[in-house]
Amino acid sequence: QPVIQLREIEKIYQTKTIETVALNRVNLTINKGEFVSIMGPSGCGKSTLLSIMGLLDEPSGGVIELDGRPVQAYSDRELAALRNQKIGFVFQSYHLINDLSVLDNVELPLLYRPGVGGKQRRERAYAALDKVGLSARTGHFPSQLSGGQRQRVAIARALAGRPEIILADEPTGNLDSVMGEEIMELLLNLNRQEGTTIVMVTHDEQQARRTQRLIRFFDGSQVS
Ligand code: ADP
Ligand code: ADP
Repeated sequence: QPVIQLREIEKIYQTKTIETVALNRVNLTINKGEFVSIMGPSGCGKSTLLSIMGLLDEPSGGVIELDGRPVQAYSDRELAALRNQKIGFVFQSYHLINDLSVLDNVELPLLYRPGVGGKQRRERAYAALDKVGLSARTGHFPSQLSGGQRQRVAIARALAGRPEIILADEPTGNLDSVMGEEIMELLLNLNRQEGTTIVMVTHDEQQARRTQRLIRFFDGSQVS
């Protein structure tokens, strides 16, 4: 059952003097419950692909379908809700807010969510932090945590939104192998136990081999 389908997706970045084709007619289907990894050299379009899948960026051409329905068929309001509720993002550099506590960082994406009040927000944040093993660090600030712990906070923040899909852009890229392994285990468990669909960009062949499907990119196109 497809959750995200890309059909002939193109992305062209235009600056004054150069035109970069970041994605060249990409066709790709992500099915419900899959854990897919994406590999390829720097600059081949992996981050662009994730941003487009996550509706953070618009393609220059082609069609994106979510749950079998073209994105164009959704209203702006529906799309904003989908972006917020259906999809969780995890980045290489964590993107935490340094002067908010761990708990406040995790609650943040729920602040403007309709139907989730303060008490529920807090409960969900605690539950998410429990899942990533950070219940004892809720009052800490990001600067007081290791890289691996910071990434776990970022994953908890994504989980608090209860996303169906997690898009992770080199989630272990800034971590040593031990902490990277922890994060990988966490993602594998989420996928197995909760059925969360995951698309992960990685440079680590060993990690990629543990996922269900490996897609290789080169120069804006899928090569295998
Ligand atoms: P990857 O994630 O595989 O390293 P990216 O998706 O970041 O690749 O980039 C693909 C190509 O598009 C690269 O050539 C990059 O320089 C270019 N690119 C990415 N974002 C922009 C942008 N905002 N403006 C111009 N060029 C961009
Ligand atoms: P990551 O940590 O995911 O590898 P990057 O360093 O590839 O992130 O890119 C960070 C941001 O810079 C992205 O939003 C991307 O779109 C933008 N970017 C990447 N390459 C270029 C470029 N050549 N020109 C302008 N913006 C770019």
